[in-house]
Amino acid sequence: MMSDCCQALAEPQRHRSRLLCRQCGSEGQPVDRTTIEALLKPESLSEVNGSQYMFCETPNCPVVYYAADGMQFKKEHVRVRVGLKETEDPVPVCYCFGVTERMIDEEVQQTGRSSASIRIRAEVKAGHCRCEVENPSGQCCLGDAIRVEKRAAAERSGSDHAVARSGGKEVEDAAICQDSGTDRAY
Ligand SMILES: [Zn+2]
Repeated sequence: MMSDCCQALAEPQRHRSRLLCRQCGSEGQPVDRTTIEALLKPESLSEVNGSQYMFCETPNCPVVYYAADGMQFKKEHVRVRVGLKETEDPVPVCYCFGVTERMIDEEVQQTGRSSASIRIRAEVKAGHCRCEVENPSGQCCLGDAIRVEKRAAAERSGSDHAVARSGGKEVEDAAICQDSGTDRAY
């Protein structure tokens, strides 16, 4: 915590400095106010102000959103389970279409592969994703889904072969979703 006497000194370069989570010290990802307002529990909504909010991606950090003014919203203030901060089922992967880590794991165990990212990609292309108001990160879940699929496949085969298979596709897929996302205004 910065003491009051230092605030004035720090002010001019605040917008240039990185915005770190005060709980875990990591730098999160910027998140739109639209996302925060859609995902906070009603009783926390009145505390949202005009600050730039960040989404903390640290798995064991209870903070979900934080701002430069010190405001924090933790897991208990958010309406949904934040997948990357949960280890017990259900761990949401795709919020728009209700995919959990367990569903991917089970499909990989039973069939050897997961169809989740294929289904998600098709839905995204059809314009059905609402990541900015469903996913706490506000970002497309496709990259997360592919990451979980790779992890599940690697665990099943006990080797790294599955991990190497589709490398490089994630970024492209995430971009597809971002493009379609910006077209839809709320
Ligand atoms: Zn944090």
